[in-house]
Amino acid sequence: MYRSHTCGELRIADKGKKVTLAGWVQKSRKLGGMTFIDLRDRYGITQLVVEADAAPELVEKAASLGREFVIQVEGEVLERESKNPKMPTGDIEIKVLNINILNVSTVPPFTIEEVSDGGEDLRAKYRYLDLRRPPLQRALALRHRLAQEIRTYLDGEGFMEIETPYLIKSTPEGARDFVVPSRMNPGTFYALPQSPQTFKQLLMVAGYDRYFQIVRCFRDEDLRADRQPEFTQIDCEMSFVEQDDVLNTFEGMMRQMFKNALGVDIPNPLPRMSWYDAMDKYGSDKPDVRFGMEIHEVTPLVQGCGFSVFDDSRYVGAIAVPGCAEYTRKHLDELTEWVKRPQVGAKGLVYVKLNADGSIKSSVDKFYSPEQLKAVADACGAATGDLLLVLCGEKRKTQTRLGVLRIEMGNRLGLRDPKVFAPLWIVDFPLLEWSDEDGRFYAMHHPFTAPKPEHEKWFYSDKKEDLERVCANAYDFVLNGTELGGGSIRIHNADMQKRMFEVLGIGPEEAEYKFGFIINAFKFGAPPHGGLAFGFDRVCALFGGQETIRDYIAFPKNNQGRDVMIDSPSKIDQVQMDELFLASTVKE
Ligand code: ASP
Repeated sequence: MYRSHTCGELRIADKGKKVTLAGWVQKSRKLGGMTFIDLRDRYGITQLVVEADAAPELVEKAASLGREFVIQVEGEVLERESKNPKMPTGDIEIKVLNINILNVSTVPPFTIEEVSDGGEDLRAKYRYLDLRRPPLQRALALRHRLAQEIRTYLDGEGFMEIETPYLIKSTPEGARDFVVPSRMNPGTFYALPQSPQTFKQLLMVAGYDRYFQIVRCFRDEDLRADRQPEFTQIDCEMSFVEQDDVLNTFEGMMRQMFKNALGVDIPNPLPRMSWYDAMDKYGSDKPDVRFGMEIHEVTPLVQGCGFSVFDDSRYVGAIAVPGCAEYTRKHLDELTEWVKRPQVGAKGLVYVKLNADGSIKSSVDKFYSPEQLKAVADACGAATGDLLLVLCGEKRKTQTRLGVLRIEMGNRLGLRDPKVFAPLWIVDFPLLEWSDEDGRFYAMHHPFTAPKPEHEKWFYSDKKEDLERVCANAYDFVLNGTELGGGSIRIHNADMQKRMFEVLGIGPEEAEYKFGFIINAFKFGAPPHGGLAFGFDRVCALFGGQETIRDYIAFPKNNQGRDVMIDSPSKIDQVQMDELFLASTVKE
């Protein structure tokens, strides 16, 4: 037996027990003649003490231990003289009677403690050492807990976990595919799934009316803090359901996850907001509703007063930032520069200060009387002491910019507490998105999403305005400004699917080539069905109160999509290239 207890287990009630522990030496220090050792495993840290009057061999062995040596110790649980209330095991220590060195260790390249002195790149290279640190162990433990909650809940609801293949054909999520050359079929390629979308729909045709899978998906996209080229989805599909059935089922799952993993009660039912309201009020289809500061349109109030910038704009909108009327000129100049950054894209910023003394000061005082500005402030629900920030331009673009500004001000004012959770559903998305550049419609979700039944009449119209009005029978689950998941009720009828491809400018041949198998399957009694997928890595990160998903993935990639630990991607040798009928055009 290597150990009788873990390093996080012993308490004062165990005083006097003879125990055997095994773990890693986090650090050791000499104090007088005594040696103190912090022994760590994934359960915690226990202090070991080798007393001054212990056998000389034992004292010598203790002195020889380096950081990250793996040892086994036998000893007795003692009450500590100076207790450490910060550690769960802080009331006790182990008087060491014997040390067995199980393995030595090279000096690790960074400290393996709660907070490490290692930089990000170094820790990525030695990920297996970083993973020994408590924050990462807590992150992976949370991920494990949530995965168990998901499986328990969905199993209880009659869902079957079914695996789908990774070597497939392009899927309809609209990102770039990762491809795998086929040796046995020269000149042809598999695509890795961007999601199991088509397979889960085929499972519905096959009669497996409640499917789920915690599954890896692959998208060759530019990376950001919350994106990885391979990521995990909680992928689900149900037959004989309407939107309400899907939303009720999965908010139930989320409710159970919040309750059992975090002890948090979320509202029942969850709020639902239409995409149009989300855009109008929050300038985002993933609104953070933990704080107000909503966007208000003020176009009619500001036009016709001689300020041509507003007069020439289709839309003028504002947010009232609480308590910021004290912003100095310097602050406002800095904020103006901030909104002009390419990531935000505004041309300028107009401000109105509602000073504490009741006076009003703005950057457009030349054009507006205090009464007119007061009317604008009232329309935005602003109070004395608030700062109005006003942007103008094309409607949706301006709303989006105001949305970005709102989040920034929310961050600056500390209104985005990661321990506060405000989940909601966004519903009634437009089905189609027009691209001026390409002169065609794109599916806002994916081409298998059904229009809302009451909008079908517009779906079959040839007029662009009609098609733009069609709402999708789609929904997103949003938490604290992040989209955690989304899905839709699907088209299950071959004719409607054909019409969808036509609207998207996908000709019959292309449709047949890409999706012939699913169009064909729909001819054999496809049931009404719908589903959704959650981004599991993001779910874990937000539950853990973090923005980046990397800590919640055991072996993530860096911003260049590289795994620097195993040094991948990397070149393959010529023999392998030849076998795969590949030639490289990269110049050495
Ligand atoms: N396959 C979709 C996605 O990955 C989710 C769904 O519609 O179920 O976004």
